Amino acid sequence: MTAAGTGTIPIMRPWLGREEAEAAAEAVASGWVAQGPRVAELERAVAARVGAADGVAVSSCTTALHLALVVLGVGPGDEVVVPSLSFVATANVVRYVGATPVFADVEPATGNLAPGTIEPVLSPRTRAVILVHQGGVPADVDAVRGLCAPRGVEIVEDAACAIGADLGGRPIGAHSDLVAFSFHPRKVITTGEGGMVMTRRPEHAARLRRLREHGMSVSAADRHARREVVLEEYLEVGFNYRMTDIQAAVGLVQLERLDAIVERRRSLATRYRDRLAGLPGLRLVDDPPHGRSNFQSMWALLPDDFPVSRDDLLRLLLDRGISARRGIMASHLEPAYAATPHVPLPVTERLTSGSLILPLFHEMTEADQNRVVEGLYSAAGTRER
Ligand SMILES: *Cc1c(COP(=O)(O)O)cnc(C)c1O
Repeated sequence: MTAAGTGTIPIMRPWLGREEAEAAAEAVASGWVAQGPRVAELERAVAARVGAADGVAVSSCTTALHLALVVLGVGPGDEVVVPSLSFVATANVVRYVGATPVFADVEPATGNLAPGTIEPVLSPRTRAVILVHQGGVPADVDAVRGLCAPRGVEIVEDAACAIGADLGGRPIGAHSDLVAFSFHPRKVITTGEGGMVMTRRPEHAARLRRLREHGMSVSAADRHARREVVLEEYLEVGFNYRMTDIQAAVGLVQLERLDAIVERRRSLATRYRDRLAGLPGLRLVDDPPHGRSNFQSMWALLPDDFPVSRDDLLRLLLDRGISARRGIMASHLEPAYAATPHVPLPVTERLTSGSLILPLFHEMTEADQNRVVEGLYSAAGTRER
């Protein structure tokens, strides 16, 4: 536990209770543990919560994004614009389909792509943009669509971090044809591993359901429910990207917690902002004008004249039992992408090297948060006033 002065404060801890354990146990006791009725129920529940027409549950957000690109027919010879400033999976899925990831820079305030950063890297071969709502900060989808739609460039939203965030007063999840959520424990709600593609196009939903299940013409669950013999066909080369009913059972409970989680995260974020206002030049991520963040990642950009380096600051915090993290990664700086040509990415490089992510989780106490705040003031060599 993390009572004041004891134990390590983690960067994140999912809010899981007895209800999730019981729901998982019920799924096991039912005998139906693979993709089945609970997965279908979770799909309906998430779609209803975010105002999307449909949702297709899969094994992760990475597989959700992969299938989104398959559905769009993106392949070899195509370019897909992605932010380098993102978890590496955003770029990797472009490689999975044999297309070329093209890194674009991000806006300093949000860490997100914007028309002004995408436009310079568009080419006649650009087929799609993967628009990330980084750390739960909503990207301006309408503005990006204004740039992309006239050029026939598709948008896939990487909303891995963004369930529960709003854009223009509406939840993230229903602003585009293909929006991918993650239910990894580092995100806002969790199924252990898991993801979902939200879509408003019935033909996309049908194809996604087929692709996640080996390209089968009839799902295993449907076949089981029929009273007659059903011989399935394999209509195309698909994948096994299914979520299990045990995971979905957990997800149904987690979804009921979503509003409380977002509210708590927002209030802790406000408290961080208030308490850290006395550190000159420190910039904390905040809501953009067009939306409301869920503060999945509470990042802070250090001023150039901060007395210690970012990495030393991480070490000083760890010495105090505080597990902060480096800022959001930049894929173009990783060995896997060393050979990928790219335009200069100065904002990405500044944000990834100069920022850190502060602990923030539902059950974080004010005492925990005070320890983080004190750690930052101590490293800065000043006192909170
Ligand atoms: C976490 C994350 C992913 C990958 O999600 P998984 O569910 O772990 O596959 C993709 N994109 C972004 C922006 C993420 O933060």
